[in-house]
Amino acid sequence: MENKKVSKFCVNGHQFYKSSICPVCPICENNRLSKDDFLSNLSAPARRALESNGIKTIAILAQFSEKEVLKFHGMGKSTIPKLKQFLADQNLEFKIE
Ligand SMILES: [Zn+2]
Repeated sequence: MENKKVSKFCVNGHQFYKSSICPVCPICENNRLSKDDFLSNLSAPARRALESNGIKTIAILAQFSEKEVLKFHGMGKSTIPKLKQFLADQNLEFKIE
């Protein structure tokens, strides 16, 4: 049986090519993953610093204050603005001390 790829448009208007049995849009899928996995957008030391403190999502990050996060081993000052941006994207912010 030929597994023919056809051009499709997803609900968000992305054009993609997939066999008809698989309706998942690769662009949306990618966006979803990168949104959930904010850690992958950080430098390796910063990522490890967060992970070793159990911070795997933006929501968990928001339970910490900026000061607390800065104390994490491997966390650099330059990462804080990035983290603030990730928080802001989700309408969150660092815990106020
Ligand atoms: Zn899409």
